[in-house]
Amino acid sequence: MIDYISPLPKAQDLPSFPRRLCVLGATGSIGESALAVAADHPGQFEITALAGARNVTRLAEQAARFRPRYLAVLDEGGAKELKGMLPAGYSPEILHGPGAYVTLAALPEAQVVLSAIVGAAGLPPTLAAAQSGKVIALANKESLVLAGHLIRRACRESGAVVLPVDSEHNALFQSLAGHSGDDVDHLILTASGGPFREWPAADLASATAAQALKHPNWSMGAKISIDSATLMNKGLEVIEACWLYGLPQERVKVLVHPQSIVHSLAAYRDGSLLAQMGQPDMRIAIAYCLCYPSRLPLKIAPLDLAALGTLTFREPRADDFPCLNLARQAVAESPGHCVALNAANEVAVEYFLKDRIGFTDIARAVSWALDRQQGLDDPDFMTIMEVDQATRSAVAAYLTGTT
Ligand code: NAD
Ligand code: MG
Repeated sequence: MIDYISPLPKAQDLPSFPRRLCVLGATGSIGESALAVAADHPGQFEITALAGARNVTRLAEQAARFRPRYLAVLDEGGAKELKGMLPAGYSPEILHGPGAYVTLAALPEAQVVLSAIVGAAGLPPTLAAAQSGKVIALANKESLVLAGHLIRRACRESGAVVLPVDSEHNALFQSLAGHSGDDVDHLILTASGGPFREWPAADLASATAAQALKHPNWSMGAKISIDSATLMNKGLEVIEACWLYGLPQERVKVLVHPQSIVHSLAAYRDGSLLAQMGQPDMRIAIAYCLCYPSRLPLKIAPLDLAALGTLTFREPRADDFPCLNLARQAVAESPGHCVALNAANEVAVEYFLKDRIGFTDIARAVSWALDRQQGLDDPDFMTIMEVDQATRSAVAAYLTGTT
């Protein structure tokens, strides 16, 4: 039984074209792909707002190209620097600080908000977009992991619509469209298995950040690349699917599919499996969300199944990559555990990227944080932020040996 997170309006009730977009995380991998889609389809979108964090040079280039009325960066210094880089005669409003992203997400002028900030920092603007009744193209899976219950409630109150950008959830969205949710038995998320898919378990402790960043099929930001290597990305995606589709985690299965062509499958009670297939290129899912329910002709090579020849599937190595089951454990326990899981993971990934801890220490830190977390069934926003902060401090102390 599927109980989708938000209302799904009819096509005529969705914003007409050109759609006015707010792009949060514009300078990241997803943000860049979204702007590439917009650049390739003149007349379909107006860019109302662009937000980045510290890469002010890139944001200035994007702003000069798309001329949004609003820009946001992380701090005041960045805002000043950005102002100095803009072309003469173009003077947008430049906001800064975490509150700036919330302001942009709720702008009355913006109709569609692409939520593509990485990590828990994406939650406040995503929630603001949900409270403001926006169409949300959601890449920031962490916001559902932290506060799926609050986003679900906000969408139902405001009429906001969530469209999943994450390729697996986008595939499920497409595979469920037009069918009765009552006929669905379970969902199957596919996973590439990451760069260490074939590594012997004994070698994982010595895996380096540089090795983990080399994803076999997708080009992505650093944090999600490490999450893919540990299988935490698939764990976060199980939780994301639970909140999007209203299912318990036992009904969200995972299969390793090294070719990343079948992006996920919906299993119906008559034994049918419906899947969405495509090149591993995020522009497909992004464009689907930005234009929903219509589709754009994209400049992507057609999928040549004969050239691929073989598609393979197998069970994940859950014992060697414990993060997947740690995420299952967290969502089965309580929303508070999901906050702790995410915070511990973000800290551990940051340490791993700086070569301060080993690859297998990431799962160790997350497991430690889950063991000390108390159950919280319906945490409000402030409580979520408190658990997030408390877990970050505790895990940092644990990893640096001061606990
Ligand atoms: P990225 O690291 O390439 O980009 C992150 C963006 O967020 C950048 O624009 C950065 O400036 C901004 N940012 C970082 N910290 C910030 C902060 N504290 N406040 C405001 N902005 C901040 O990441 P990405 O790979 O584009 O991923 C973005 C999100 O999309 C993540 O939640 C990820 O899980 C999800 N996602 C990404 C992919 C992918 O293919 N890259 C696929 C599915 C889902
Ligand atoms: Mg994904």
